[in-house]
Amino acid sequence: MKRLVALTAAAFLSLPLAPAIATPAGTPGAPGAGDPYFPGQGNGGYDAARYDLTLDYDPSSGRLSGLARISARATQALSRFNLDLVDTLTVRSVTVDGRRATHAQSGSELVVTPARTLRRGRDFSITVRYDGLPAHVIDPDGSMDGWIKTGDGVFNANEPQGAMTWYPGNHHMTDKAAYRFTVTVPRDRVAVANGDLVAKVSKGGRTTYVWNSREPMASYLATVSIGRFDLTDRRIGGYRVTTAVDPTVQAPGFPERHPPVLDFFTGLFGPYPFSSTGGIVDNAPEVGYALETQTRPIYPRAPSESLLAHELAHQWFGNSVTPTLWRDIWLNEGFATYSEWLWADKLGTQTVQAAFDEAYARPAEDEFWQSPPADPGGPENLFHAPVYDRGAMTLHALRLEVGDDAFFAILRAWAGRHKYGNADTAAFVALSERVSGEQLDTLFDAWLFKPGKPAM
Ligand SMILES: [Zn+2]
Repeated sequence: MKRLVALTAAAFLSLPLAPAIATPAGTPGAPGAGDPYFPGQGNGGYDAARYDLTLDYDPSSGRLSGLARISARATQALSRFNLDLVDTLTVRSVTVDGRRATHAQSGSELVVTPARTLRRGRDFSITVRYDGLPAHVIDPDGSMDGWIKTGDGVFNANEPQGAMTWYPGNHHMTDKAAYRFTVTVPRDRVAVANGDLVAKVSKGGRTTYVWNSREPMASYLATVSIGRFDLTDRRIGGYRVTTAVDPTVQAPGFPERHPPVLDFFTGLFGPYPFSSTGGIVDNAPEVGYALETQTRPIYPRAPSESLLAHELAHQWFGNSVTPTLWRDIWLNEGFATYSEWLWADKLGTQTVQAAFDEAYARPAEDEFWQSPPADPGGPENLFHAPVYDRGAMTLHALRLEVGDDAFFAILRAWAGRHKYGNADTAAFVALSERVSGEQLDTLFDAWLFKPGKPAM
């Protein structure tokens, strides 16, 4: 592959120069998407439509070689633009529409200057060749994020900022795109990514896995996880269930556990939004969290029923409907936590009301009540308890106020209207009022925006 690329570059150099065409003056794209929690995340001036990532990884040396092909559209006349990629990876070359572009790396910004200004509205393609020794980053809350090495490969979870540790992109959740992953690993390892497994080819001592993720995906939900895995890919109960389980972990019946949960949520929230499902069960206790990676959540150990339900509910809430800013993360975590309560109620382990009562029983002077879920206060609090538990309690308070019919109509409308898109807390409040026909300012103010324990 490297040789082919080198020949192509040489071929371009030998072409006669194209006649000069006057191009409008462009301006540089913004270096961030404007999210106050992570100002450098994402970029302005273009919209990515598709990533085609060709990766080669050697777990023994830790070396990654990558070729990223990105299809994008200019949203302004663009003289220069940024991609997000940590500079511990070395960029070897960048082309824009096949022409060599100049590039510079600084921190997690890769600055690309195309040979010509890109006209506003123009579709263009970027290729980035890069390599190096990827490593995880530590998030503001202290957890590991990104390319997390394990004993036999990589636990790859990227919320909120890990994507820049392994591929260049427009890494803010507002720029969703389709993906194709072509990943080559040693023959005794498996590379698992999002979407549908479309090919597996072994040659010499290496195996290449090709995965296609056709529905739009935010980059924090992408994964390429590598290790010794038992890979299964089957139709069960109307779903394509693709699972990868570390053979050192006991996870009996893992594939079969998915359809009942998905059927239950489909009945409440509307159709399952993706072409396949499943999960990755690794043996990585050091990671300490699971993530709802799109179509295929990743777990550091075999998941409990509530964790499985939590990550599968995220496929509707978080993955298909994604917030516009990190501050609105309760739209992911409050909904997934409430879905855990719904699933436990369905199983007969605990009623939703009992789960609410247990969470609400925290004393009023508890620190927990000082942080409203729609304003966690900073990136270090993105995943703290109020976002989850008080977020879920907010939904239950809404349900008690508007009644079951209106409440589940709101959830279905939320999942349906914003399918594959982004939406914020204000949109959820407005939708709840429209569907229920009720004025809900007081309820949402008390539960979402004001510190202190709301009265019931
Ligand atoms: Zn979650």
